[in-house]
Amino acid sequence: MYSPDTLHRLNNTEVAKKRKAAGRKDTHCECCGETATKVLPVYNPADAVRGVKGAYCTIEVCDNCYEDQKFLEDDEYFYCDDCGELFITHHSWDNLVCNLEEGRFCHACAAKRIEPLTLDEIIEQLKNEKTESWKRINAVPGKDEVWTGEYSGYSDFSGHTSFRTIVAEIREKAKAEGWAKKKLYPVISQTYQFSAVLSIFA
Ligand SMILES: [Zn+2]
Ligand SMILES: [Zn+2]
Repeated sequence: MYSPDTLHRLNNTEVAKKRKAAGRKDTHCECCGETATKVLPVYNPADAVRGVKGAYCTIEVCDNCYEDQKFLEDDEYFYCDDCGELFITHHSWDNLVCNLEEGRFCHACAAKRIEPLTLDEIIEQLKNEKTESWKRINAVPGKDEVWTGEYSGYSDFSGHTSFRTIVAEIREKAKAEGWAKKKLYPVISQTYQFSAVLSIFA
């Protein structure tokens, strides 16, 4: 299931049409209100890894604001430090940027930087609550999701879970389904206000 934002998505053809229309009629820059001269397609960082094509939306800006990158100032959008495309930073509560030491990335580019772990390493990290190396990626291209679960450290949240229950669940599933010895890719596949969805790909 895709999030509802997919319904409002513009495809590439529509972006092209909109760009053409903006060239003809007087549209206003979203940053300063002057006449807009550029229509920038903005993508959802998760789309490429979940097989959704096309831009999420467009923003219209004037030459000055484009040059000064004014549209990046309120952190609604970011440029991926690898592919260079413009992306939205979040969708409702879901933070979509993959922040790494070497930059900010869309999920497809972040997935190229993921190193596999063994089941023991994953369990060790979960037990010690050291999952900060887990990247914010919806899905790992070319791999199958073998486990997913919601984690919340807030004890008064209805979806509260402990790492202990997650570890037990992962161990059992890995044994039953025979992926205990495989190369595994743990990720944070969704983020919500009080919780995150963790997934393991193999
Ligand atoms: Zn402007
Ligand atoms: Zn990218």
